[in-house]
Amino acid sequence: MPFKLIDLPFAADALEPAISAETFSYHHGKHHQAYIDKTNAAIEGTELADKSLEEVIAAARGSNQGLFNNAAQSWNHGFFWHSLAPDSGAPSDELAAMIDKAFGSRDGLAKQLADRGAGHFASGWVWLAEKGGSLSIEETHDGDTLADSGFNPLLVIDLWEHAYYLDHQNKRPAYLDAVIGKLDWGFASDNLARGSVWTYPA
Ligand code: MN
Repeated sequence: MPFKLIDLPFAADALEPAISAETFSYHHGKHHQAYIDKTNAAIEGTELADKSLEEVIAAARGSNQGLFNNAAQSWNHGFFWHSLAPDSGAPSDELAAMIDKAFGSRDGLAKQLADRGAGHFASGWVWLAEKGGSLSIEETHDGDTLADSGFNPLLVIDLWEHAYYLDHQNKRPAYLDAVIGKLDWGFASDNLARGSVWTYPA
């Protein structure tokens, strides 16, 4: 079964002005679509054609960099759309307690996410992740992912210029400040409660 471009879980203009509908028209409609199309083209007729996206990522890591990049970027963007919401809600009691323990407060977490995202060199992703019952901020470069990493990713922010250039030009910190206010704490809480890595919808 070929992988599909999943719908945005909100209207394309619902996150303005943090992220505009125009940005989503390219970022979701063109960039994410291209990663999906290239993944499907690379696995067509191979033994990976009937595997899950998570299985394709794990199989390609270290052995097929082109497929890995496209499969991981397909997964990362699906996870990113779900990491965002017009109404960011609130973390579960369990997640809130873990945030306080690791970062002092929600504001402390927000500041560290903004600092790590702004300091990340070139393209990549900044994540809130859980492992062994504690939270940490992780960074991956280019198309790399936490999907098969041993971490349980809770949230992610895209740091590629295509994520913010139309709305914020070169000002990545302004994008981070805006987008951190649109993180979906319900999604993060669901990921923590499940205790296993989110799966890309079939
Ligand atoms: Mn992107």
